Amino acid sequence: MKIPFLDLIAQYHSIKEEIDAVIEGVLESGHFILGSNVAAFEEEMATYLGAKHAIGVASGTDALVIALRAAGVEPGGEVIVPSLSFYATASTVITIGARPVFVDIDRDTYLIDTIGVEKAVTSKTKAIIPVHLYGQPANMDEIMEIAQKHNLKVIEDNAQAIGAVYKGKKTGTIGDIGTLSFFPSKNMGAYGDGGMVTTNDDEIAEKVRKLRMHGWKKKYFPEMLGYNSRLDELQAAVLRVKLKHLDAWNARRADIAHVYSKYLVKLGLRVPVEAPDRTHVYHLYVVPFEERDIVQQKLKEAGIASGVYYPQPLHLAEPSREFGKGEGQCPVSERCSKTLLALPGYPEMTDTQIEQVLAAVEKIL
Ligand SMILES: *Cc1c(COP(=O)(O)O)cnc(C)c1O
Repeated sequence: MKIPFLDLIAQYHSIKEEIDAVIEGVLESGHFILGSNVAAFEEEMATYLGAKHAIGVASGTDALVIALRAAGVEPGGEVIVPSLSFYATASTVITIGARPVFVDIDRDTYLIDTIGVEKAVTSKTKAIIPVHLYGQPANMDEIMEIAQKHNLKVIEDNAQAIGAVYKGKKTGTIGDIGTLSFFPSKNMGAYGDGGMVTTNDDEIAEKVRKLRMHGWKKKYFPEMLGYNSRLDELQAAVLRVKLKHLDAWNARRADIAHVYSKYLVKLGLRVPVEAPDRTHVYHLYVVPFEERDIVQQKLKEAGIASGVYYPQPLHLAEPSREFGKGEGQCPVSERCSKTLLALPGYPEMTDTQIEQVLAAVEKIL
């Protein structure tokens, strides 16, 4: 039996009746942009997260661009980002004309190293973007302390950690702004692109609402240079259905991860470390292998898909390397980009499939 990295068809079949009904509802309503489903989904998400505002936008990348603008980051300003993340964490900083400043990650949790963050602060620093990488919350207490000390804004890149909790608070509600992605492969994926900005600040929320709609508050009277970046009604309707299943899906991901870890630790592998006072929603289950590419190839031959997140750290990527110091700047990220491999860990996986993955890894080792 082949094991995919993700099975969105199995997930659709598990909620098909609900999904088909709401899609038909949107089609019959004739309303596709910023209608009742987006408004209801924004409220449901705000309640779910415990945020004052949740504002739907077109993607997780747009959510970061809009969050940076709403936070008041201006061209030339510096923004501290981890050196291992999805590329948008750094590219969006460059998109708005600001400068990404790369900080290495912790070798155990793969989260941004807070000692490095403090060291990276200069008189030009305007914001920090902690990424809750692979589904685990970053060290928000330390990050908020550094931000307060130096008067910086904190934008949580929450694309991989929807539903994760840090000291009793959902991620995305601790900093000034949080951003979410509903890319299909995320823990709560749309049937297309989608994203969201979350905040407890009324002023920031108003700016985000303007920015997603050409800078308007009153139609056709822009108050700032904005974008066309909206979550659409079809995606919002789908996501309202999926939100009801999110906690169960996240719990299943964590269960699978714990089964993996219990077994793989006995094979001498470095299994994911869960830092204290937080939950990990295991968007990705990653393990380092010395000969990662060979392991991946052998898994493939055994019919098991796996993934590399990410094969290149941000400070070495072509469009952003001019902002970094080149090879050797972030040794942990550089090493992780060569060794980390993500095993399939999607909620619809069966126990038999989990055993099959573990048996294959053991055989390869
Ligand atoms: C997926 C992702 C994004 C971008 O989201 P899109 O919806 O694909 O634009 C940003 N940051 C991180 C960490 C991500 O994983």
